[in-house]
Amino acid sequence: MLDKLRLSIAKASGKSASLLSKVGPGGGGNIPGYVFSRVGDNESISSLASELKYGSILVTGTNGKTTTTTLLIKLISQDVQIRRSYENNTIHSILTAMLKQDGDLGVFEYGIRNKEFGIPDKVQKLIDPVGVVYTTISPEHSQVNNVKNSFLAYYSAKTLLSKEMKRGVIVANCDDPRTALIGLNKEKDVHVNYFGINITDIEDFDSKPIKCPNCGEILKYSHNFLNHRGFYSCECGFKRPEPNVKLVGAELNPDSWKLSIEGDLYNYAISKNVQFSLELNVPPFGLHNIYNTLASITAYASFTPKVENIEKSVKNIFDNLDMSFIPPGRFEIISYDNKHIGIGQGDNGDAVKVNAMFIKPYCKDSVEFIFTTPDEYEDDIFRDQYEVVKSLNPDHVIVVPGRKSIDKAREYYEIIKKDFETADFYPLDYEEMDKRIEKLTELAKESKYETIIMTGCGEEQAMWESIKRNFINR
Ligand SMILES: [Zn+2]
Repeated sequence: MLDKLRLSIAKASGKSASLLSKVGPGGGGNIPGYVFSRVGDNESISSLASELKYGSILVTGTNGKTTTTTLLIKLISQDVQIRRSYENNTIHSILTAMLKQDGDLGVFEYGIRNKEFGIPDKVQKLIDPVGVVYTTISPEHSQVNNVKNSFLAYYSAKTLLSKEMKRGVIVANCDDPRTALIGLNKEKDVHVNYFGINITDIEDFDSKPIKCPNCGEILKYSHNFLNHRGFYSCECGFKRPEPNVKLVGAELNPDSWKLSIEGDLYNYAISKNVQFSLELNVPPFGLHNIYNTLASITAYASFTPKVENIEKSVKNIFDNLDMSFIPPGRFEIISYDNKHIGIGQGDNGDAVKVNAMFIKPYCKDSVEFIFTTPDEYEDDIFRDQYEVVKSLNPDHVIVVPGRKSIDKAREYYEIIKKDFETADFYPLDYEEMDKRIEKLTELAKESKYETIIMTGCGEEQAMWESIKRNFINR
């Protein structure tokens, strides 16, 4: 009785806070969830979460979370009414969505950085998700509150989000040894549906040794798709599990891609395996979006109660997809004045690599790389990104600060100049963002090269999306 009372008081407080946050200054989006968790207790959070008839799905990973969440929402909202939230790292955003929206299933992006600054085990316990989706896990080199984030702590935080799950389905990328191991270790408790690429047409152009997440030795790869994603095995016995949903064919034409996908996986809603076969026509959207496509289809087919609709619903979304599905500021290739210009964020080495692989088929004659650098204390990010810059072998490089420090950007430029003598530096100020955006746009528009790639660090919306809008209208 008391618990119920506390739950309704917490709900009422959270909802009235939502009225305030509407009229208050911007940025108050998560206040209702915050107030709810303050007024209520852990039990109130669990009760609120259990109001969703089909439960909640959490999407996590280093790259691809937002796009996978977006695609999953498009797919599953055709069959079920859902509550959702994106681009947040706190339980408050999940609670806010639960309070303010209606629906029987929750789809929430949840990006944990490490144990200290996220509470993955607590979130697992309180939200009690029926699904956790792992896109891919890479080192981010991120600093949180000036503390160097160790990859082990980061990986263990991601693991904790599903560690105590006793029901439901884990969706994991089996081409990624880190997410695959999380899946393999949970097969005794829950169903695990893997997704991956089963063709070798797609290949990384430069891959580094990767440690086995199980024993620490170097993994053996017979094929690399992208950095640590590929066909791998280890002397300890750990190897890539077979995907339940797999890409079995791809025709990658300049104007459209045809993807063949086959699935045989466990569906949680009907407690049975379901099979499907898909031929999808999508815009040329890059390898990372093949993974996001596979992740979202796998998660969708694992949870939709309308299994008879799977093929039709997936085709309906993907055959009608245009590039507006990618989150603001993400990399895309634009045709402009007989040139191909790739523009978008690449905040870490992995992200720049993905962008470079995307534009590589367009790099036939002359190539210019416009590189927006990281900030102070981010030398390791620079190192990874710059290796990708070099691997594209551009004819010309332009260096622009991507973050605040112009001095640090100049230091990076001096390093680049040793390899690219003709490199240019534009010390554009962070405080005058409009000028920076204008100049970057002008550099791409007036470039005399046939293919231009402009990527690196920079604010997603405030910088990259604004530059892209100078070229395209959506
Ligand atoms: Zn091993």
